[in-house]
Amino acid sequence: MKRSPVLLAVFLMLCGDAGAATMGKCRFDTDPRSFAGTASEQASCLMRKVRPLGNVAAEPAVLPANLAALVGQPTGISKARMRSEIAALGFDEAGLGGSLDSPLSRGNANSAQEPMARYFVIHDTSTPNFGEAQFPADIDTSNKVNSFSGYKSPTNAKAHIFLNRGGEIYVGHDFGVPWRATKLELKIGKLAKGLFVHIETIQPRRAHPHQADGTAPDPGFTAAQYDRLALLYLMASMRAGAGLVPAFHAAIDEGLSDGHDDPQNFSLAEFDAALGRLLAKLRP
Ligand SMILES: [Zn+2]
Repeated sequence: MKRSPVLLAVFLMLCGDAGAATMGKCRFDTDPRSFAGTASEQASCLMRKVRPLGNVAAEPAVLPANLAALVGQPTGISKARMRSEIAALGFDEAGLGGSLDSPLSRGNANSAQEPMARYFVIHDTSTPNFGEAQFPADIDTSNKVNSFSGYKSPTNAKAHIFLNRGGEIYVGHDFGVPWRATKLELKIGKLAKGLFVHIETIQPRRAHPHQADGTAPDPGFTAAQYDRLALLYLMASMRAGAGLVPAFHAAIDEGLSDGHDDPQNFSLAEFDAALGRLLAKLRP
């Protein structure tokens, strides 16, 4: 029987799906729309240390205690408690990526039958770039480093959240909006759009002998950034119904061409300590 072009196209699509290879070092598979392993194993792969020039450590990250107990598990936090904490901090839910009553985005650009977002992707902005100059002493407070003006856009911000070194937040998109910000998501295509939420943490850079913006400050982030990151992580996880899998941009894109080198000098221990401080208030 002569195949009609339509049947041939369907046949090729099915073959393509069945033979699809996994993508990236942590092996994203379009079926079942996740990286390889349990949620904890995925986090260990996706949070491997990112060294200068985007060299991602080969060994899996050891998840610190608070994170290990949260990833893939119900948060055990009531909305009422979270809401009073948010108010005490002077925020509202919209200013933290959206309402606790709303779900996160779903895959395939918000298709109802697709899974909800699972990955909480941590980036650094790698800007501004001070070039050959040393970092000024005021990078945690200066407007030059911490202004959101270069990131703001009514519809086209590059991430869901922008977090400056003073702990202030600009919401580019509600966490319910499907948005891509890694090479891997773009390569997978529309199916991946909505499975990842993206946080850009402001970190300036300066020149490195082998990369124009390859040197990061050390420490890389402020205590205020870790505190807000912990808050955003718990809020997004509550909306998802389980602790999201945290991930570093560079670890997601490792092995793909034109990968990134962010975040630099991220301290898992400090992030975990911030989670611990917040959980102590939310689950007394
Ligand atoms: Zn990034």
